[in-house]
Amino acid sequence: MLNAQQIINYQPDNNLLCDRVILVTGAGSGIGRAAALAFAEAGAELILAGRTPAKLEQTYDRIVNAGYRQPTLYPIDLLGATDEDYDQLAVALEQQFGRLDGLLHNAGILGQRTPLSNYRQDVWDKVLKVNVTGQFQMTQALMPVLEQSDDASVVFTSSGVGRVGRAFWGAYGVSKFAVEGLMQTWAAELEGLNSVRINCINPGATATSMRAQAYPAENPETLKAAADIMPAYLYLMGPDSRGVNGQSVNAQLH
Ligand code: NDP
Repeated sequence: MLNAQQIINYQPDNNLLCDRVILVTGAGSGIGRAAALAFAEAGAELILAGRTPAKLEQTYDRIVNAGYRQPTLYPIDLLGATDEDYDQLAVALEQQFGRLDGLLHNAGILGQRTPLSNYRQDVWDKVLKVNVTGQFQMTQALMPVLEQSDDASVVFTSSGVGRVGRAFWGAYGVSKFAVEGLMQTWAAELEGLNSVRINCINPGATATSMRAQAYPAENPETLKAAADIMPAYLYLMGPDSRGVNGQSVNAQLH
């Protein structure tokens, strides 16, 4: 495995992801859109999943206009989706591609930034559902198509507040701790068993609408753009990280 600095400076080969079928959640904006564009540029065939079809279509247009492989749109709401919905997704992937080589769990919501003593339980439930439970359900349903790949990479999106607890981050911080635990548990279960590997990525402070929601007074120009943090994403999705399993990776140095 590359060290932390090498991952941040990673330079992918041309066509790193050619012949890889990769699903990105939250592909309609922010880091998810940047990842979709970077994976498409590297030759991947993409499934763009997310809540808002119009935003997914904008990502689709950007990919097609750049001359990359035509992606597939798959609107899905992680808040309301059921096991049956995820089973349908698995069937659709099996029929269209016969396998899945990459799964980037990027979609997420922030919830409230408030003391836990004031935290609303309905918001708590939504954040845990979108940021953890839905991702668990999707991964479980897609495991058979991931197992059809000879090198499948599942990447969960963590956060600095999912590694050290920080005041006022509420359910979001708890959800990111949960994602780290989910990843470690699953990675340990899969170690040596098949060709599926599971890791976490922490994007670090990145100029997106979620970051602006969390830090409204911050100047986004002081932050990395989503496109700037893609080396770590490309490393984890591609063959150079084959065998890397159960790791928490940073996309930026802090
Ligand atoms: P954005 O808010 O720009 O993107 C979040 C994406 O998740 C959107 O595309 C959104 O779709 C999608 N999404 C939200 N709810 C659902 C849902 N119910 N079903 C399906 N899709 C949904 O934020 P970022 O790009 O910043 O965040 C991407 C990931 O990175 C998140 O997991 C976040 O926690 C993490 N992260 C971000 C950091 C940062 O500094 N930006 C730092 C650390 C972690 P829609 O727009 O249609 O609502």
